[in-house]
Amino acid sequence: MIKHLTDMKFIDLDRQYRAYRQEINSAIQAVLDSGQFILGDTVRALEDALARFTGSRFAVGTSSGTDGLLLCLMAQGIGPGDEIITTPFTFIATAEVITMLGATPQFVDIQPDTFNISPEAIEQKIKERKKAGGRIRGIIPVSLYGQCADMDEINAIARENRLFVVEDACQSFGATYRKRYSCALSSMAVTSFFPSKPLGCYGDGGMIFTDDETLADTLKAMRVHGQNRRYRHDMKGINGRLDAIQAAVVLAKLKHFREELQARELAAKRYNNLISEQIPDVQIPHTKRDRTCVYAQYTVRIPDGRRDDVVKELEQRAIPCAVHYPLPLHMQKVFAQLQVPEGSLPVAEKAAREVLSLPMHAFITEQEQEAVVKALSDALK
Ligand SMILES: *Cc1c(COP(=O)(O)O)cnc(C)c1O
Repeated sequence: MIKHLTDMKFIDLDRQYRAYRQEINSAIQAVLDSGQFILGDTVRALEDALARFTGSRFAVGTSSGTDGLLLCLMAQGIGPGDEIITTPFTFIATAEVITMLGATPQFVDIQPDTFNISPEAIEQKIKERKKAGGRIRGIIPVSLYGQCADMDEINAIARENRLFVVEDACQSFGATYRKRYSCALSSMAVTSFFPSKPLGCYGDGGMIFTDDETLADTLKAMRVHGQNRRYRHDMKGINGRLDAIQAAVVLAKLKHFREELQARELAAKRYNNLISEQIPDVQIPHTKRDRTCVYAQYTVRIPDGRRDDVVKELEQRAIPCAVHYPLPLHMQKVFAQLQVPEGSLPVAEKAAREVLSLPMHAFITEQEQEAVVKALSDALK
């Protein structure tokens, strides 16, 4: 086998580092020389740059996407007895932060084509919980795999029912929705700079976006232990700050980000063409007409029951792949006390059995993509 094919990475951070090595190294060096390691000018520069990029008024750097989500809920005063509507088909962090505050996630099903939360299912859940005397306070839609959820419909439902909306944009920074950017579509939004995300750093980091100045001030205090002035604490908070070195890395990568998004889109198109020609049984990702996808994951559906065969074949050829996500959140042991029975969210459960994410990043080559699709095709013969 050709060597570079066996070296294939699911997300190739080495190639990215080699391409921007000088810029990243000197950005890190500048932070070391400045002696300012937590928050400070570099973090502020990143906040300004990303607020501008998204068209959001305020941006608040955080220690991770998870902490960003947690801070948003804290700023809304979420606690025991409160209920938050979200999707069961996401990374655990989305719902984990709800239970961390003693509130209850109310899972609703997803759309089969985009894997994003269904606005109709949200409406139904609100009616159901109102009748039962539940206290729904907000909605956390996830813009999964890099494609925004139906944000206008979700915002309209939220307005009607006086709920807040936090877009979990941890996978969708840079995506557009009706010509606006992800992170600037709802009352609050959170993205993540985890290394494997489309815009990643070299550790943990995240950012919250909002147009509400009071809320931004609250979030800024809460990320520093609820501190307004030095050692004065008017509210509860956490250690939720962004490090300057991580901000510097993101700033360096941001210069190349639009180019990388184009490369990702091109790679997705290539996969789409190869797969539809060679293996029409495999369902390629569906991006709605009014939005763009940043392909945090390039995720296909393998016809029911065949995914294990495909994974085995890819493993044998040293082609990395992943399942995002194999077990919907309502079926996770950690949420067993919510007592949401298996079978109650069938679209998410079916997706969990069928999805498969293929290697995707801005530096993937045509040759590598052909090898991936060939393996997929051979496995399904
Ligand atoms: C990565 C991710 C998170 C968590 O972000 P971290 O920075 O790793 O804490 C939350 N939600 C979704 C959908 C994610 O993909």
